[in-house]
Amino acid sequence: MRDRQVSPRLRPLVAGNWKMNGLRKNLPEIAKICAAAAEGGAGEAELVICPPATMIMAAASICEGAPVALGGQHCHAEPSGPFTGDISAEMLKDAGAKYVILGHSERRSGHNEGNEAVREKAVAAFRAGLTAIVCVGETKAEREAGEALPVVGAQLAGSIPLNSSSETLVIAYEPVWAIGTGLTPTTHDIAEMHRFIRGQIHEHLPGRGDAIRILYGGSVKPGNAGELMRVENVDGALVGGASLTSDDFMAIAGVYR
Ligand code: PEP
Repeated sequence: MRDRQVSPRLRPLVAGNWKMNGLRKNLPEIAKICAAAAEGGAGEAELVICPPATMIMAAASICEGAPVALGGQHCHAEPSGPFTGDISAEMLKDAGAKYVILGHSERRSGHNEGNEAVREKAVAAFRAGLTAIVCVGETKAEREAGEALPVVGAQLAGSIPLNSSSETLVIAYEPVWAIGTGLTPTTHDIAEMHRFIRGQIHEHLPGRGDAIRILYGGSVKPGNAGELMRVENVDGALVGGASLTSDDFMAIAGVYR
């Protein structure tokens, strides 16, 4: 896009969070994303698909040689051990992942993951050589109470390891009330929040604030992606529902062509 206002130094990232959706029969969708990306369909953007962990190994062989990376949707803080049902960052890396989403609101609320747990998992991701996509975002009640900025500020302060860098950390601002609802904040509110997050990163990670990508997530669709991705300090998108079909996902990533 010619008129983007974000720092031209940051390569945009468009990541798809498949959540608990996806069986082997859905692997061709990933193959279609790889084919479209190989033809330049995402322009300057980096693409990441985060399918269920059960699909990562098969997806990795499909994505081999294609400009599409894979990610997990959470990880345990320990590398291995007696943690039935959990997956370590090392296991995700071994399966072919390059990224891991951490602190998604569905993990924070459904699995009681607080800021400290998210930070420990981010440290584990770094240890394993993964890049952590750390999610933050306020609830509707918090926004209506005028608490959005302090809530996100506290999440950032508690969740981000102090040794994070642009290679190891991506922030995703996902207002909880916008996830899967079809609702989005105004571009004014997104700009205000992303500017605030940029400032917070500068404070917590001196000298690294300008290089860390800040994604917007929450009901990003082909129809609104152009407008949302043009907002200042929005360096890409974390996409849920619309990442499940290659057509929609590539239409979103296509705003960076
Ligand atoms: C998400 O779950 O991270 C998300 C942004 O979902 P959706 O795009 O469906 O709102």
